[in-house]
Amino acid sequence: MKPRDRLRIAMQKSGRLTEPALELLKRCGLTFRQSRDKLFCFGEGEPVDLLLVRDDDIPGLISQGVCDLGIVGRNVLNEYRRGADGDAPALAEWRPLGFGRCRLSIAVPQDMEYREPSDLGGRRIATSYPGLLSEWLKVQDVSATVVTLAGSVEIAPKLGTADAICDLVQSGGTLVANQLRETDVLLQSEAVLAGPDALPADERGDMIELLLKRLDGVIQVRESRLLLLQTSRTSLDAVTRLLPGGPQPTLLPVAGQPDQLMLQALCAGEVSWRQLEEIKKAGAREMFVLPVEKMLA
Ligand code: AMP
Repeated sequence: MKPRDRLRIAMQKSGRLTEPALELLKRCGLTFRQSRDKLFCFGEGEPVDLLLVRDDDIPGLISQGVCDLGIVGRNVLNEYRRGADGDAPALAEWRPLGFGRCRLSIAVPQDMEYREPSDLGGRRIATSYPGLLSEWLKVQDVSATVVTLAGSVEIAPKLGTADAICDLVQSGGTLVANQLRETDVLLQSEAVLAGPDALPADERGDMIELLLKRLDGVIQVRESRLLLLQTSRTSLDAVTRLLPGGPQPTLLPVAGQPDQLMLQALCAGEVSWRQLEEIKKAGAREMFVLPVEKMLA
Protein backbone atom coordinates (compact mmCIF):
# COMPACT_ATOMS: atom_id res chain seq x y z
CA MET A 1 0.00 0.00 0.00
CA LYS A 2 1.38 3.42 -0.99
CA PRO A 3 1.98 5.51 2.12
CA ARG A 4 -0.55 8.31 2.45
CA ASP A 5 0.80 11.84 2.53
CA ARG A 6 -2.36 13.27 4.11
CA LEU A 7 -3.41 12.68 7.69
CA ARG A 8 -6.72 10.88 8.12
CA ILE A 9 -8.82 11.21 11.26
CA ALA A 10 -11.76 8.89 11.96
CA MET A 11 -14.73 10.30 13.83
CA GLN A 12 -18.35 9.49 14.59
CA LYS A 13 -20.60 10.06 11.56
CA SER A 14 -23.61 11.17 13.56
CA GLY A 15 -24.03 11.17 17.30
CA ARG A 16 -23.15 13.03 20.48
CA LEU A 17 -19.48 13.42 19.60
CA THR A 18 -19.88 14.67 16.01
CA GLU A 19 -20.65 18.37 16.50
CA PRO A 20 -18.22 19.04 19.38
CA ALA A 21 -15.46 17.14 17.53
CA LEU A 22 -15.93 19.22 14.35
CA GLU A 23 -16.01 22.40 16.43
CA LEU A 24 -12.76 21.42 18.17
CA LEU A 25 -11.01 20.68 14.86
CA LYS A 26 -12.27 23.99 13.47
CA ARG A 27 -10.73 25.77 16.45
CA CYS A 28 -7.46 24.00 15.55
CA GLY A 29 -7.65 25.67 12.15
CA LEU A 30 -8.99 22.61 10.29
CA THR A 31 -11.96 23.03 7.96
CA PHE A 32 -13.43 20.41 5.63
CA ARG A 33 -15.42 20.01 2.44
CA GLN A 34 -17.87 17.14 2.78
CA SER A 35 -18.06 14.55 -0.01
CA ARG A 36 -21.37 13.62 -1.64
CA ASP A 37 -21.56 10.27 0.17
CA LYS A 38 -20.83 12.13 3.41
CA LEU A 39 -18.30 9.50 4.46
CA PHE A 40 -15.19 11.45 3.61
CA CYS A 41 -14.42 15.10 4.33
CA PHE A 42 -11.54 16.65 2.46
CA GLY A 43 -9.39 19.09 4.46
CA GLU A 44 -9.36 22.47 2.76
CA GLY A 45 -6.35 24.26 4.24
CA GLU A 46 -4.22 21.59 5.87
CA PRO A 47 -3.48 18.05 4.56
CA VAL A 48 -5.86 16.49 7.08
CA ASP A 49 -9.00 14.58 6.01
CA LEU A 50 -11.86 13.05 7.98
CA LEU A 51 -13.51 9.68 7.69
CA LEU A 52 -17.01 9.66 9.18
CA VAL A 53 -17.88 6.23 10.55
CA ARG A 54 -19.66 4.37 13.37
CA ASP A 55 -17.82 5.04 16.64
CA ASP A 56 -17.36 1.32 17.35
CA ASP A 57 -15.36 1.02 14.11
CA ILE A 58 -12.88 3.78 14.95
CA PRO A 59 -10.28 1.84 17.00
CA GLY A 60 -10.17 -0.93 14.38
CA LEU A 61 -9.62 1.57 11.56
CA ILE A 62 -6.65 3.07 13.43
CA SER A 63 -5.30 -0.34 14.27
CA GLN A 64 -5.46 -1.40 10.61
CA GLY A 65 -3.73 1.82 9.52
CA VAL A 66 -6.73 3.00 7.49
CA CYS A 67 -6.80 6.12 9.70
CA ASP A 68 -3.98 7.76 11.64
CA LEU A 69 -6.05 9.13 14.50
CA GLY A 70 -9.59 8.90 15.82
CA ILE A 71 -11.90 10.93 18.01
CA VAL A 72 -13.77 8.40 20.08
CA GLY A 73 -15.18 7.81 23.57
CA ARG A 74 -12.72 6.33 26.07
CA ASN A 75 -15.37 3.65 26.73
CA VAL A 76 -15.17 2.48 23.09
CA LEU A 77 -11.38 2.69 22.95
CA ASN A 78 -10.86 0.76 26.19
CA GLU A 79 -13.42 -1.91 25.29
CA TYR A 80 -11.60 -2.43 21.99
CA ARG A 81 -8.25 -2.66 23.79
CA ARG A 82 -9.64 -5.41 26.05
CA GLY A 83 -10.89 -7.39 23.05
CA ALA A 84 -8.08 -6.76 20.54
CA ASP A 85 -5.93 -9.76 19.76
CA GLY A 86 -2.32 -9.58 20.87
CA ASP A 87 -0.98 -9.10 17.33
CA ALA A 88 -2.96 -5.93 16.62
CA PRO A 89 -0.92 -2.69 16.97
CA ALA A 90 -1.41 -1.15 20.41
CA LEU A 91 -3.58 1.95 20.60
CA ALA A 92 -2.98 4.92 22.87
CA GLU A 93 -5.10 7.70 24.26
CA TRP A 94 -3.23 10.78 23.06
CA ARG A 95 -5.40 13.48 24.62
CA PRO A 96 -8.62 13.70 26.66
CA LEU A 97 -10.84 16.21 24.82
CA GLY A 98 -13.23 17.39 27.52
CA PHE A 99 -16.59 16.63 25.89
CA GLY A 100 -18.92 13.61 25.68
CA ARG A 101 -18.42 13.03 29.41
CA CYS A 102 -20.22 10.02 30.85
CA ARG A 103 -19.46 7.03 33.08
CA LEU A 104 -19.76 3.29 32.67
CA SER A 105 -21.66 2.06 35.69
CA ILE A 106 -23.37 -0.91 37.23
CA ALA A 107 -27.07 -0.33 37.92
CA VAL A 108 -29.52 -2.62 39.68
CA PRO A 109 -33.34 -2.55 39.99
CA GLN A 110 -34.36 -0.10 42.71
CA ASP A 111 -35.95 -2.89 44.76
CA MET A 112 -32.92 -5.20 44.58
CA GLU A 113 -30.85 -5.45 47.73
CA TYR A 114 -27.33 -4.33 46.94
CA ARG A 115 -24.52 -3.36 49.30
CA GLU A 116 -21.34 -4.37 47.47
CA PRO A 117 -20.10 -6.00 44.24
CA SER A 118 -20.19 -9.49 45.78
CA ASP A 119 -24.02 -9.15 45.75
CA LEU A 120 -23.74 -9.59 41.96
CA GLY A 121 -22.34 -13.12 42.41
CA GLY A 122 -24.28 -15.66 40.34
CA ARG A 123 -26.38 -12.90 38.69
CA ARG A 124 -26.77 -12.02 35.00
CA ILE A 125 -25.50 -8.55 33.99
CA ALA A 126 -26.48 -7.07 30.61
CA THR A 127 -23.98 -4.79 28.85
CA SER A 128 -22.56 -3.61 25.54
CA TYR A 129 -19.13 -3.56 27.22
CA PRO A 130 -18.37 -7.23 27.97
CA GLY A 131 -14.59 -6.70 28.02
CA LEU A 132 -14.65 -3.86 30.57
CA LEU A 133 -17.32 -5.55 32.68
CA SER A 134 -15.50 -8.92 32.75
CA GLU A 135 -12.29 -7.20 33.76
CA TRP A 136 -14.04 -5.33 36.60
CA LEU A 137 -15.76 -8.51 37.82
CA LYS A 138 -12.38 -10.24 37.86
CA VAL A 139 -10.80 -7.46 39.90
CA GLN A 140 -13.76 -7.63 42.31
CA ASP A 141 -13.43 -11.42 42.43
CA VAL A 142 -17.11 -11.81 41.53
CA SER A 143 -18.41 -14.63 39.36
CA ALA A 144 -21.41 -13.42 37.32
CA THR A 145 -22.82 -14.09 33.84
CA VAL A 146 -22.13 -11.33 31.30
CA VAL A 147 -25.05 -10.95 28.86
CA THR A 148 -23.82 -9.01 25.82
CA LEU A 149 -26.42 -6.78 24.15
CA ALA A 150 -25.92 -4.35 21.26
CA GLY A 151 -28.33 -1.74 22.70
CA SER A 152 -31.37 -1.04 24.91
CA VAL A 153 -29.44 -2.50 27.83
CA GLU A 154 -31.51 -0.55 30.36
CA ILE A 155 -34.68 -2.56 29.69
CA ALA A 156 -33.04 -5.99 30.18
CA PRO A 157 -34.01 -6.33 33.89
CA LYS A 158 -37.66 -5.51 33.08
CA LEU A 159 -37.65 -8.06 30.26
CA GLY A 160 -36.19 -10.64 32.61
CA THR A 161 -33.09 -11.22 30.46
CA ALA A 162 -30.74 -9.87 33.16
CA ASP A 163 -30.70 -9.03 36.89
CA ALA A 164 -28.53 -5.93 36.60
CA ILE A 165 -26.90 -3.82 33.89
CA CYS A 166 -23.57 -2.20 33.11
CA ASP A 167 -24.18 0.82 30.87
CA LEU A 168 -23.19 4.40 30.11
CA VAL A 169 -24.73 7.02 32.36
CA GLN A 170 -24.68 10.74 31.77
CA SER A 171 -27.47 12.53 33.64
CA GLY A 172 -28.88 9.35 35.18
CA GLY A 173 -32.29 10.07 33.62
CA THR A 174 -32.43 6.79 31.69
CA LEU A 175 -31.75 4.80 34.86
CA VAL A 176 -34.48 6.60 36.83
CA ALA A 177 -36.95 6.13 33.95
CA ASN A 178 -36.28 2.39 34.12
CA GLN A 179 -36.42 2.11 37.93
CA LEU A 180 -32.71 1.36 38.15
CA ARG A 181 -30.17 2.56 40.71
CA GLU A 182 -26.50 3.26 39.94
CA THR A 183 -24.22 1.37 42.31
CA ASP A 184 -20.61 1.29 41.02
CA VAL A 185 -18.65 3.34 38.48
CA LEU A 186 -16.29 1.23 36.34
CA LEU A 187 -14.93 3.98 34.12
CA GLN A 188 -15.12 7.79 33.80
CA SER A 189 -15.31 8.47 30.08
CA GLU A 190 -15.07 11.39 27.66
CA ALA A 191 -14.09 11.87 24.03
CA VAL A 192 -10.38 11.27 23.48
CA LEU A 193 -7.93 11.57 20.62
CA ALA A 194 -6.79 8.01 19.97
CA GLY A 195 -3.89 6.90 17.82
CA PRO A 196 -1.21 4.25 17.47
CA ASP A 197 1.15 3.82 20.41
CA ALA A 198 4.04 5.30 18.39
CA LEU A 199 3.85 8.17 15.90
CA PRO A 200 4.51 7.25 12.25
CA ALA A 201 8.13 8.02 11.32
CA ASP A 202 7.13 10.08 8.26
CA GLU A 203 5.49 13.46 7.53
CA ARG A 204 2.26 12.24 9.07
CA GLY A 205 4.07 11.94 12.41
CA ASP A 206 5.15 15.60 12.08
CA MET A 207 1.57 16.57 11.25
CA ILE A 208 0.27 14.71 14.28
CA GLU A 209 2.76 16.56 16.49
CA LEU A 210 1.62 19.87 15.03
CA LEU A 211 -2.02 18.96 15.57
CA LEU A 212 -1.33 17.93 19.18
CA LYS A 213 0.30 21.32 19.85
CA ARG A 214 -2.67 23.18 18.41
CA LEU A 215 -5.05 20.96 20.33
CA ASP A 216 -3.21 21.65 23.60
CA GLY A 217 -3.47 25.40 22.94
CA VAL A 218 -7.18 25.19 22.12
CA ILE A 219 -7.97 23.02 25.16
CA GLN A 220 -5.97 25.28 27.46
CA VAL A 221 -7.77 28.38 26.21
CA ARG A 222 -11.17 26.69 26.31
CA GLU A 223 -10.66 25.86 29.96
CA SER A 224 -9.13 29.22 30.92
CA ARG A 225 -10.97 32.15 32.45
CA LEU A 226 -9.69 35.65 33.03
CA LEU A 227 -10.59 36.92 36.49
CA LEU A 228 -10.57 40.68 37.03
CA LEU A 229 -11.17 42.25 40.41
CA GLN A 230 -10.36 45.22 42.58
CA THR A 231 -8.90 44.85 46.06
CA SER A 232 -7.30 47.00 48.74
CA ARG A 233 -3.58 46.50 49.32
CA THR A 234 -4.33 45.23 52.84
CA SER A 235 -6.68 42.49 51.54
CA LEU A 236 -4.33 41.48 48.71
CA ASP A 237 -2.74 38.49 50.47
CA ALA A 238 -6.08 37.05 51.60
CA VAL A 239 -7.59 37.51 48.12
CA THR A 240 -4.56 36.03 46.32
CA ARG A 241 -4.61 32.93 48.53
CA LEU A 242 -8.14 32.13 47.33
CA LEU A 243 -7.48 32.50 43.59
CA PRO A 244 -8.05 29.34 41.52
CA GLY A 245 -4.92 27.74 40.03
CA GLY A 246 -3.02 29.55 37.28
CA PRO A 247 0.07 31.68 36.73
CA GLN A 248 0.95 34.57 39.07
CA PRO A 249 -1.68 37.35 38.85
CA THR A 250 -0.87 40.77 37.39
CA LEU A 251 -1.40 43.82 39.61
CA LEU A 252 -2.24 47.28 38.27
CA PRO A 253 -2.65 50.62 40.11
CA VAL A 254 -6.11 52.22 40.24
CA ALA A 255 -6.06 55.90 39.22
CA GLY A 256 -6.78 58.25 42.15
CA GLN A 257 -6.99 55.40 44.73
CA PRO A 258 -3.45 54.63 45.93
CA ASP A 259 -4.63 51.99 48.46
CA GLN A 260 -6.51 50.04 45.74
CA LEU A 261 -5.19 47.55 43.16
CA MET A 262 -6.67 46.00 40.04
CA LEU A 263 -5.86 42.28 39.91
CA GLN A 264 -5.87 40.22 36.74
CA ALA A 265 -5.53 36.42 37.02
CA LEU A 266 -5.63 33.70 34.40
CA CYS A 267 -7.46 30.75 35.96
CA ALA A 268 -7.18 27.14 34.78
CA GLY A 269 -10.82 26.02 34.69
CA GLU A 270 -14.21 27.31 35.76
CA VAL A 271 -14.54 29.89 38.52
CA SER A 272 -17.65 29.00 40.51
CA TRP A 273 -20.08 31.39 42.22
CA ARG A 274 -18.98 29.94 45.55
CA GLN A 275 -15.31 30.72 44.82
CA LEU A 276 -16.28 34.27 43.79
CA GLU A 277 -18.27 34.75 46.99
CA GLU A 278 -15.31 33.55 49.09
CA ILE A 279 -12.93 35.90 47.28
CA LYS A 280 -15.38 38.77 47.77
CA LYS A 281 -15.59 38.01 51.50
CA ALA A 282 -11.79 38.26 51.65
CA GLY A 283 -12.04 41.87 50.45
CA ALA A 284 -12.38 41.85 46.64
CA ARG A 285 -14.98 43.84 44.69
CA GLU A 286 -15.89 44.72 41.07
CA MET A 287 -15.26 41.12 40.02
CA PHE A 288 -15.50 39.89 36.42
CA VAL A 289 -14.93 36.38 35.01
CA LEU A 290 -14.29 36.45 31.26
CA PRO A 291 -13.84 33.61 28.75
CA VAL A 292 -10.53 33.61 26.87
CA GLU A 293 -10.84 33.68 23.07
CA LYS A 294 -7.21 33.21 21.98
CA MET A 295 -3.89 33.12 23.81
CA LEU A 296 -0.37 33.53 22.54
CA ALA A 297 2.23 33.44 25.30
P1 AMP B 1 -28.56 9.62 30.64
O1 AMP B 1 -30.04 9.30 30.60
O2 AMP B 1 -28.28 11.09 30.43
O3 AMP B 1 -27.88 9.07 31.89
O4 AMP B 1 -27.88 8.90 29.39
C1 AMP B 1 -27.84 7.52 29.34
C2 AMP B 1 -28.13 7.00 27.96
O5 AMP B 1 -27.37 7.69 26.99
C3 AMP B 1 -27.72 5.54 27.85
O6 AMP B 1 -28.58 4.91 26.94
C4 AMP B 1 -26.30 5.62 27.31
O7 AMP B 1 -25.99 4.46 26.55
C5 AMP B 1 -26.32 6.88 26.47
N1 AMP B 1 -25.09 7.70 26.62
C6 AMP B 1 -24.83 8.58 27.60
N2 AMP B 1 -23.64 9.19 27.41
C7 AMP B 1 -23.13 8.67 26.29
C8 AMP B 1 -21.93 8.89 25.56
N3 AMP B 1 -21.01 9.79 25.94
N4 AMP B 1 -21.75 8.18 24.42
C9 AMP B 1 -22.68 7.29 24.01
N5 AMP B 1 -23.82 7.06 24.65
C10 AMP B 1 -24.06 7.71 25.77
